[in-house]
Amino acid sequence: MRYVSTRGDKTPRRFCEILLEGLAPDGGLYMPMSYPQVGYVRLQQLRTVYGNGRPGGYADLAFEILSWYIDDIPPEDLRTLVRKTYTEEVFGTDAITPVIPIGAGIWIEQLSNGPTLAFKDIALQLLGNLFEYELARRGETLNILGATSGDTGSAAEYAMRGKHGIRVFMLSPRGRMSPFQQAQMFSLQDPNIHNIAIEGVFDDCQDIVKAVSGDQTFKQEYKIGTVNSINWARILAQVVYYFAGYFQSTERNDQEVNFIVPSGNFGNACAGHVARMMGLPIKQIVVTTNMNDVLDEFLQTGRYRVRTGAETYETTSPSMDISKASNFERFVYDLLGRDSARVAQLFGPVLAGSGQFTLSPADLARAVNDYGFSSGSTTEAEVLEVIKLVWEKASHIMDPHTAVAMNVALMHGQQAEPVIVLETARAVQFDDTITQAISRPAVRPVALVGIEDLPQRSVLMPVDVFSVQDYIAKHCNP
Ligand SMILES: *Cc1c(COP(=O)(O)O)cnc(C)c1O
Repeated sequence: MRYVSTRGDKTPRRFCEILLEGLAPDGGLYMPMSYPQVGYVRLQQLRTVYGNGRPGGYADLAFEILSWYIDDIPPEDLRTLVRKTYTEEVFGTDAITPVIPIGAGIWIEQLSNGPTLAFKDIALQLLGNLFEYELARRGETLNILGATSGDTGSAAEYAMRGKHGIRVFMLSPRGRMSPFQQAQMFSLQDPNIHNIAIEGVFDDCQDIVKAVSGDQTFKQEYKIGTVNSINWARILAQVVYYFAGYFQSTERNDQEVNFIVPSGNFGNACAGHVARMMGLPIKQIVVTTNMNDVLDEFLQTGRYRVRTGAETYETTSPSMDISKASNFERFVYDLLGRDSARVAQLFGPVLAGSGQFTLSPADLARAVNDYGFSSGSTTEAEVLEVIKLVWEKASHIMDPHTAVAMNVALMHGQQAEPVIVLETARAVQFDDTITQAISRPAVRPVALVGIEDLPQRSVLMPVDVFSVQDYIAKHCNP
C-alpha cells in the first residue's frame, strides 16, 4: 500500500514514512491509494479469525486488516505489536470492544474500556507501540509536545508512558481540567511523562505548542513531534472496531448494519467510511453532533462552515465541542472523486477566505446515497432525557457523548437492520451530568476509586514560550 496527500502531492509513501508525520508537505492529509476489498468470502474468513469475543480474537482481526495497509513492517513484528496492544490487561475485557443489546434493535459498542475510559485509547495504545517500534528501528527518539484540556492528553500519556525513545511534554491550563482528568494525568509517575501546568487557558497552551513547533531550529534539535487527530494510523486502528461491531451484531455476512457515531473531528466517522469503502456491509453511518453542529449542517445542506471561537459552545460533551472537523477533508477527497486540485482549493484558499464552502446538491446527494452518510444533532436537554431513559429501560448509564448519538438513534426509530451506537466514553468521568440526569453518579471501577488522592506530579509555568523550551531542553539529552 502507498499513501498520497488529499491536496495533490502524489509522491507515493509507505506506511512507516507517514507514521510519525502530521500533515503532508502540501498541507493535505494522507490517504491510501486504494481500499483493499473484502467480499463475502474474505468477510467470512475475518469473522472466523475474530471468533466473536474469544481471547486474542480482536488482535488477530486487527492484524489481518492492518496487514493490508502496512507492508513495511514484517508480519511477525506487526502481529506481536497488535497482540501486545489489544489485551485484557490493557482493555479490561477479552472482547476489547464488546457489543451490548439495549433493546428495540439498538446495540451499544463499548469503545471506552481502555486505560483512560475513552475511545481515543483504541488508536493511541496502538500508536504508542508503533512509534516505539519504528523509532527503535531508526535509532531515533521523539519528544511529543501537546496541549490538552482533558481527554486527548491523558490518552496520549497512557499510550506513551514507559515507551523507549519517547518523551511526552503535555501542556494543560492550570486548574481547568476536571479533577478526575487531572488526577489521571498528574498521577503518572513514569519518568518519560512531563505534565506542564500553564497559568492560562487552553488557547494559551495551544499557542505555546504552535510557537515551539514553529521554531524550526528548536524543533529539529529537540526532535519535537505530535500525536494529532489527523494521523492516518489512528484512523486505521479505528477501522477494526467497525468490523468487530459488525460481527458481534450479525450472524451472516449478507446482513447490513447502521452505525451511529458521536462526532467531533470526524476521525471516528472517517474510519467507518473506510470500513464501508472496503466492503463491510454498512448501510448508514449516522454522524451525530451536539450544539456544535458543523457536520450535521453539512450533511443537511451541503454547506461546510467553520465556526469562530465565540460560536463554539461549551456543552456536557466537551470532546465534541469543535469549531472545525479536521478529518473531514479525507471524506471530501473521496466524495469529489479524489479531485485533489478541488480539495486543495476548498480547504486552502476558500476556507481561509470565507470560512466556508458549499457543495452542489448532486455532491450532497452522493454523500447520502452512495456513501451512506446521514446525520442528526442533539440538544443539552435531550442528552439528560436520553441518559435517564436508557437507564430506566435498559439499566445502562451512558456518558453524555454517547447520549448524543443514542438520541439520534432513537429519533430514527426502529430499523430493519441492527443499529450500533458507538460508546466513546464512560459515564464515570461525568459525575455532574449523570447526577443531573438520574440523581446519582455512575459507579466507578474499583481501580479508579480514590484516584484524586494519589500523589500528583506537574510543574507550573507562566504563559511563556521560552520557559517551556528551556524546560524541554533541560529534560532532553539530544
Ligand atoms: C474525541 C472524542 C469524540 C469525537 O471523535 P472524533 O473522532 O473527533 O469525531 C467523541 N467522544 C469522545 C468521548 C471523544 O473523546
